[in-house]
Amino acid sequence: MQTAQTIIKKYRRKRVIVCVAVAFLTLILTLGIRFISQRNINQDRILNFTSHTVRALDNVLISLESRRDMLLSMVGAPCDQAHLILRKQAAILQTVRSIALIKDGKLYCSSVFGSRNVPVSEFLPPQAVSKPALVLSTDRWLLEGSPILIQWYPVSPDGEDGVVEVVNIDLISRMILEPQPPLITDAVLRVGNQSLRYGQQVSDALDIDSGDTHFQQASPRFPFSITVSGPGPGEMALKNLPTQLPLAMMLSLLLGYIAWLATARRMSFTWEISMGLAARELELFCQPLVDARTQQCIGVEILLRWNNPRQGWISPDVFIPLAEEHNLIVPLTRYVIAETVRQIGVFPASSSFHIGINVAASHFRRAVLLQDLNRLWFSAGPCQQLTIELTERDALLDVDYRIVRELHRKGVKLAIDDFGTGSSALSWLEKLHPDVLKIDKSFTAAIGTDAVNSTVTDIIIALGQRLNIELVAEGVETEEQSRYLRRHGVHTLQGYLYARPMPLREFPKWLAESSSPPAQHNGRIVPLMPLR
Ligand code: C2E
Ligand code: CA
Ligand code: CA
Repeated sequence: MQTAQTIIKKYRRKRVIVCVAVAFLTLILTLGIRFISQRNINQDRILNFTSHTVRALDNVLISLESRRDMLLSMVGAPCDQAHLILRKQAAILQTVRSIALIKDGKLYCSSVFGSRNVPVSEFLPPQAVSKPALVLSTDRWLLEGSPILIQWYPVSPDGEDGVVEVVNIDLISRMILEPQPPLITDAVLRVGNQSLRYGQQVSDALDIDSGDTHFQQASPRFPFSITVSGPGPGEMALKNLPTQLPLAMMLSLLLGYIAWLATARRMSFTWEISMGLAARELELFCQPLVDARTQQCIGVEILLRWNNPRQGWISPDVFIPLAEEHNLIVPLTRYVIAETVRQIGVFPASSSFHIGINVAASHFRRAVLLQDLNRLWFSAGPCQQLTIELTERDALLDVDYRIVRELHRKGVKLAIDDFGTGSSALSWLEKLHPDVLKIDKSFTAAIGTDAVNSTVTDIIIALGQRLNIELVAEGVETEEQSRYLRRHGVHTLQGYLYARPMPLREFPKWLAESSSPPAQHNGRIVPLMPLR
């Protein structure tokens, strides 16, 4: 059996665990959601950057295409005629540095230099000659060493004649390839196996930091791609996470607190009692009351037992005080009364058979007990003698004597339980007119051992006799106690010497066995039920 403290502690521990788990889960979830959304934002930013860059360069190259046919028709025309037109076209196409005409594998006319004689092989790779090509290269004539993007359009199938347009990629790259740290630390234009990064020369290596993640997007129309690199959307989102911590902490604390409030009822022992009542986990036991002289059973006291599937057996000494404290004792007593009536068949149908039911003083308030008895007991009309046991530890002075009078009128007896242990004055004995005093088991236990307490036992017995109140001794465990009490005129005995509390369904069998003629031993009566 467990104590109230250990059970309550268990509930509190469970509640704390649940609330901490809720808070922790909220924290993890909030941070997780923030991380994922930030990572998606970063991913979108990278995608936007690359597609915007690809689109910008696509637009530059598309604008060149619009003039292509006109320029191709000029291939073969003498340079002194073509030169001015080439200059004009280069001026119109603002992104172009120069335009040149090629005949028989030689650059013979340039928009910048006029007539020239430069072999194509000097600025175009051989494999690119027979078909249109885009080449990233380095300027060797005008702005020496600066990057250029050459667009080559052949006009003859052998690739000996055609037009060359030199795009001012140095300027364009400064506009479209500028990194956006910390997310995008590097942006590279890649044409064939040549690369150009922001503010640098053309190189034939891509060399991207191996620790970085990179993302590449190719142009759908032209043979180039843009590669961007950086710490990666996930890592950036992770770095950003500490800034989200205060908000996430606040949210998790709030949810933990809400969980604490929400579980106040559900995860308490009082909730468990209500659940136990609803699930009918509380079982009625009864303990026989024995006539001190004849040793015959003259009644029972109904005692509650709780077989809690989660906690095991819980003693009434644990759950009754808690039920009293949390206003659950009235529904609990209603359950006891209703169950007793339902199983009344196990008891002898005799008006001299006593059935004692424990009732808390608070149940007397506003005549609730009377209403409950009318509804549950009197309506069923059992013939047995009902005794209401009221514990002295309860506030007996609060008990309305008019209700006691009404109970008496209806034939219900009133017993004062655990008599001698309370601290109330004796004046209420006169006020309440109890029919029975139940001598507490501590006084019974003192018989023959504890001088002071056994004196108190004698005084209680004398008091009961003087006031003409029936006496019941609880906790009779030995033959010596039984003899003493009988000799001193106590009428009724209850204790392990006769029987331990038993489930109601076992009572008829016990009664049948104990009603057989009492065994005689050396002329003395032997207890009906041996001490188990
Ligand atoms: P109580 O009303 O004084 O009940 C007598 C208690 O003494 C019972 O404990 C019983 O098992 C125990 N007892 C009986 N004979 C002996 C004996 O020879 N030796 C010893 N050491 N003990 C004996 P139990 O059943 O554990 O109940 C404890 C208390 O819980 C009861 O004391 C009563 O105050 C309360 N209780 C039990 N059932 C109910 C109920 O249905 N309603 C209310 N309000 N209180 C109840
Ligand atoms: Ca009792
Ligand atoms: Ca008692």
